Amino acid sequence: MSYEVLARKWRPKSFDTLVGQDNTVQALSNALDNDRLHHAYLFTGTRGVGKTTLARILAKSLNCEVNISSKPCLDCSTCKDIDKGRFIDLIEVDAASNTQVDNMRDLLDNAQYAPTSGRFKVYIIDEVHMLSKSAFNAMLKTLEEPPPHVKFILATTDPKKIPVTVISRCLQFNLKQMTADNISRYIKDILKKEEINSEDEALNIIAKAAHGSMRDALSILDQAIAYSGSSISTKEIISMLGTIDNIFLVSILNALVKNNGEEMMKLSAEMNEKSISFDLALEELARLIHKISIKQIIPNSTNDSSLSEEINKLATLFTPESLQLKYQIVINGRKDLHLAPDPLTGFNMTLLRMLAFYPSIKPSNNSDSKKKVELKSDVKIKVEVKDNILDNINIKDFDGDWIKLVSCLKIGIAKSLAQESSLISYKDNIFNLALNENFSHLNQNDYVEKLEDELTEYFKEKIKVNIKLGNRLKTPSLQKKIKNDELMKTTESAIMNDKFVKELINDFDAEVITSSIKPTKKKEN
Ligand SMILES: [Zn+2]
Repeated sequence: MSYEVLARKWRPKSFDTLVGQDNTVQALSNALDNDRLHHAYLFTGTRGVGKTTLARILAKSLNCEVNISSKPCLDCSTCKDIDKGRFIDLIEVDAASNTQVDNMRDLLDNAQYAPTSGRFKVYIIDEVHMLSKSAFNAMLKTLEEPPPHVKFILATTDPKKIPVTVISRCLQFNLKQMTADNISRYIKDILKKEEINSEDEALNIIAKAAHGSMRDALSILDQAIAYSGSSISTKEIISMLGTIDNIFLVSILNALVKNNGEEMMKLSAEMNEKSISFDLALEELARLIHKISIKQIIPNSTNDSSLSEEINKLATLFTPESLQLKYQIVINGRKDLHLAPDPLTGFNMTLLRMLAFYPSIKPSNNSDSKKKVELKSDVKIKVEVKDNILDNINIKDFDGDWIKLVSCLKIGIAKSLAQESSLISYKDNIFNLALNENFSHLNQNDYVEKLEDELTEYFKEKIKVNIKLGNRLKTPSLQKKIKNDELMKTTESAIMNDKFVKELINDFDAEVITSSIKPTKKKEN
């Protein structure tokens, strides 16, 4: 026997087996049982939430040979024929393939004739928003003066595209998206009937992957059965869907607590090797952070997750403010993922941001204590400064660039002396220096001799140094300070203009603590 897809095999045949649309079912049941029938219904909602299923149950309720009720017998030939899709007075049209006005006219010309065997002629028009304008006009005429034996059931995923004149003549029901909870309970039930074993976590993953659509959930389940056979395990579902083992994410958050960036990068590399979708990983990470936050706020709350122990532990390791910020970073990271050079890079940058930013409360005199975001001092914005690398040169080739020369000296007291001095003149291997008078304590014979030795070693020729005191000198150390200030300005403005930092400032009322910004550069010797 050929395999019948689950969505068809287990399509709910009555209102009480339909999941997740309690309000609509309640309203329709009341109308049917109290004989308050409308001639046109409009079901709206995203795909796979049960619009056409509901329409068919309604058609059965209207035409069941026993009577009109919210509980069609499911046993009479009308009920059976409707379930099998062969009832002559039920006309199902997919507007996506019948947009021509002629088809619509033919269809509606027929409406005036009495039903062949049923109580009502029921027209189910799916994706009704796809009808052309003239098709809508043709339909409107019938809707304005409907023959008493005609019922319209319109269904659409996009009600905004339906003319108001049509909508106003329909009784509208907004079908809700299925919750993951509803879906996993429903598919668990189906698997039980199919005698297939399953792990709860596996069904939770399928339910989430279906994004509110029962039809999608069931086709994933079809796939899973084909893939796994008589037993559906979490491991297989993860591998089938390329979804993510939440253990990875828990490990990432644990590494984050320990400020262990290396471990975080290792984990993301492992995830990459397993071809895990990083978009999904960020989605799941946001979900996980949300669960941890809930645990913090409502300590007694339970969650269905198999990770509840880890979640409880993480709830004690993060501050609520920090979780808020991490959540925002993850959401932003996901939003920008398509802009990243590749998903792994985008994912890693998001992890590094989580590592780099944490909120703190600024002690403030007024009651309005602003949340602010610090850049941790161990995370530096990299601004590279080229090293001044000089090879040993002949004294005759020395161009007088004292700053460059000093940068080549070994660190020590001789270098300090040189850094606080500027070169006045040099001739015949004699260097005349002016020492910043604020550093006159460096003007000692043995320091000067050490500098002479260093320069002698550098030029491979005997060098003599004369020192006098001076002020307002362009010493190497002053030049370096000016350069560093410039670098600092560039770094600060790079940070302040960063799109993400701007978002933090706007969304979190965050402040950047400029004193915590440190440009990274190669150490100058
Ligand atoms: Zn019946």
